[in-house]
Parts: sequence; C-alpha cells; structure tokens
Amino acid sequence: MTDETPLAPHGPLPRGGAVRPMTRWGTPVMHRPQQKVTVFDDALRALAADMVATMYAAEGVGLAACQIGEDVAMFVFDCPDEAGQRVVGLVCNPELHLPEGKDRVLDDSPEGCLSFPGAFVDCARPDFAAVTGVGLDGQPVRFEGDGLLAKCLQHETDHTLGTVFGDRVSAKAMKKLRKQHDAATEEYPADWPA
Ligand code: ZN
Repeated sequence: MTDETPLAPHGPLPRGGAVRPMTRWGTPVMHRPQQKVTVFDDALRALAADMVATMYAAEGVGLAACQIGEDVAMFVFDCPDEAGQRVVGLVCNPELHLPEGKDRVLDDSPEGCLSFPGAFVDCARPDFAAVTGVGLDGQPVRFEGDGLLAKCLQHETDHTLGTVFGDRVSAKAMKKLRKQHDAATEEYPADWPA
C-alpha cells in the first residue's frame, strides 16, 4: 500500500431516517456511475439517515445510495473485519485502493447483495482494501480492512460506479444466484424492507 493518508473515521452515522424499499438489480440507476457529491447540506444528511435506517432494517453490512434509488456516489457500512472488529462509516465519492503485486491475495468467499436478496455465490476479491473519500461535511475520510470488511468496501464502491457483483461472477455462478433469488421471492416483497 502506498496510500499514506491516515485512517480518518468520523462521528456516528446519522440516525432517525426512514426505511425505504430496496432498489433491485435491473433498475437503471444501479447500472451507471453515480453523481459525485458536491453539496454537503441537510438533504445529503437526510439521505444518509435513510440509507442507515434501510441498511439496518435489511440486516445488511453496507448500503449505497443507488440501492434506495438515489443517483448519489455515497455509501454507508457497519461491518466486521477478519478479527470480528466492527467498523462503521460513510463515504462520499469513494476511491478504492487495492494491494498490488505479491500483496494481492484473492479471497474467494460468498457474497450477497441487498438489491438481489436471498442469494449468495463466491466472488473473488483482494483480501484487503482501503477506501478514501469525504464524509458528510466534506472532510477527508479513509477506511481500510480485511475479511468481510474488505469485501464490503469493494462491493459498495462498485455500486457507486454502477457495477453489481453479478457483473464480476461467471455465467454459471450468475445462474445459480438467480435460482436462489427466484426461490426466495416471497420473502422479499417489492417494498422490502420498508
Ligand atoms: Zn450490493
């Protein structure tokens, strides 16, 4: 890693938001790069609070704005790392920093997405990731970690770029994913988790 920006978390995630229906794969907003955040106002904070409420209601470890239908490059997360340490954060305009060369070790483990609920398949990703960006007040933030947290930081940054993890797996894995998802349809009605 050459990024020497110090770890810079921020205060607690904004609360008091509304739980909103989860936007699903196939909705156009999920499949294009999201608009960068340039205005750090109360509306952005309110959106973040809705994202937090929706993430917890869905029992997810991370959620991007496009997953509640908003074209905004921002995600929130509350996710354990390899040691089980919970890391909580919010990143606007995220940039991913991944290990290279001999430090790059792939972790091929199950991955799922709240926007394609009820389905999990292995998705190989580097076992460590760092993300830089800005927080709700425009201040620089940086988060990093291993285990599920590394996967989460990559998965959520992908969302802000219009990529879903189904784009990263084989056609065969996608078929398996779709089968599980279809079998679980009744558990996830259109307004879930609201
Ligand atoms: Zn997702």
